[in-house]
Amino acid sequence: METDTITAISTPIGEGAIAIVRLSGPEAISITANVFKGKNLFDVPSHTIHYGKIIDPETNEIAEEVMVSVMRAPKTFTREDVVEINCHGGMVAVNRVLEIILSKGARLAEPGEFTKRAFLHGRIDLSQAEAVMDLIRAKTDKAMSVALKQMDGRLSALIRRLRQDLLETVAHVEVNIDYPEYDDVEEMSHDMMRTKTKEVHQEIVELLQVAKQGKILREGLATAIIGRPNVGKSSLMNTLVQENKAIVTEIPGTTRDIIEEYVSVRGVPLRLVDTAGIRETEDIVEKIGVERSRQVLKESDLILFVLNYNEALSDEDDKLFQAIQDLDYIVIINKTDLEQKLNLARVEELAAGKPIVTTSLIKEEGVHELEEAIAKIFFAGDIDTGDLTYVSNVRHIQLLKQAKQALEDAMEGLELGLPLDIVQIDVTRTWELLGEIIGDTASDSLIDQLFSQFCLGK
Ligand code: GDP
Ligand code: ZN
Repeated sequence: METDTITAISTPIGEGAIAIVRLSGPEAISITANVFKGKNLFDVPSHTIHYGKIIDPETNEIAEEVMVSVMRAPKTFTREDVVEINCHGGMVAVNRVLEIILSKGARLAEPGEFTKRAFLHGRIDLSQAEAVMDLIRAKTDKAMSVALKQMDGRLSALIRRLRQDLLETVAHVEVNIDYPEYDDVEEMSHDMMRTKTKEVHQEIVELLQVAKQGKILREGLATAIIGRPNVGKSSLMNTLVQENKAIVTEIPGTTRDIIEEYVSVRGVPLRLVDTAGIRETEDIVEKIGVERSRQVLKESDLILFVLNYNEALSDEDDKLFQAIQDLDYIVIINKTDLEQKLNLARVEELAAGKPIVTTSLIKEEGVHELEEAIAKIFFAGDIDTGDLTYVSNVRHIQLLKQAKQALEDAMEGLELGLPLDIVQIDVTRTWELLGEIIGDTASDSLIDQLFSQFCLGK
């Protein structure tokens, strides 16, 4: 296992007043002590923080005033000695401190390497490690709490229980195979297998159902703002972004469309998709065709359809209403400060029960009503964000789907009356697939691949 000492800046670049240089490894304390002027870090108790200065060994000058936390193994995130150097002097100073630490023999950590060590030292399991990654990427508060919950180990606990159930079933079958002379054992095993596979299958199905919500929480509700030219789409986007402080975190290695804005509306994460094709095109239906526009719209979780109070409805509006009729949308009637030319009764008819909000974006009126409508749509589907264990990770969802398939194969085998030692193969496969979620059977390359996705410094 790793024996060298790694270091990295562990706060997001450009964010916050304080930046932290973190070290982990056997020499974390000695490397820091080497360039630290203040208390003798070798003598301080574990988990204490100390004021002092980092001295540039080349010039003997003070590089930065710092607060240094010393945390000794094993009660640390990585289970190694960990030192965190808190700097206040902005990015230049932090980088200088990092350089000094590197010059004293620490190695620059790979992305995710701190978390990888935590995993390798048994401090966290794989699903918890991935939750850390989600946490780093979490764009809004709600998404954050889902990630936290997963890190808390709830998903792991559930998966462990399911695996235990499957294991017991398999063990039972083993007994049966060892004592084939007892007919009733065979019969009982078949029944037990049938009951257990059904139960576990049901739990996986439920997990997959909440997975979608988890994904939305993590990635934000894909929200498209549509409407004819000049109705106020850009104004709406700007208003939402300004009112709800988009939390835009630049994460190296993620290929995010640049024309997206993240906002948190009453705790609901929205990914405002600045669908160039839809938002700015003169006439979406004319230009990209009804079918194509329908496709674009289908990829959205929520549509904000803007109409102009000051204009009569047009054919285009009718077409747009048609294109979105099966989707979640909110009608926004904007420019209520101007003279009414829109037929409201007709709009209500076309909207067929979907929420309608009136705004005057220029006067900043109606925005809170709109936010309320958005929150209402999101929480309508009995999404109890407090209690559910969300599966918000793409890899987990993939594995759960495979596990579900393997169980269905087992169930089919049982229906066909196949011998239990054949059915057992699929059950064992399910057990393995579930194990991959928590890292019990994860292969080395998978682990490397996963951890390389982390941000530097985590
Ligand atoms: P888009 O083409 O749909 O993106 O529309 P814009 O957001 O660019 O707005 C078009 C024009 O309408 C701009 O001049 C806005 O200032 C104006 N506008 C937006 N909202 C309102 C409103 O509530 N009332 C009035 N009177 N004008 C508005
Ligand atoms: Zn934008």
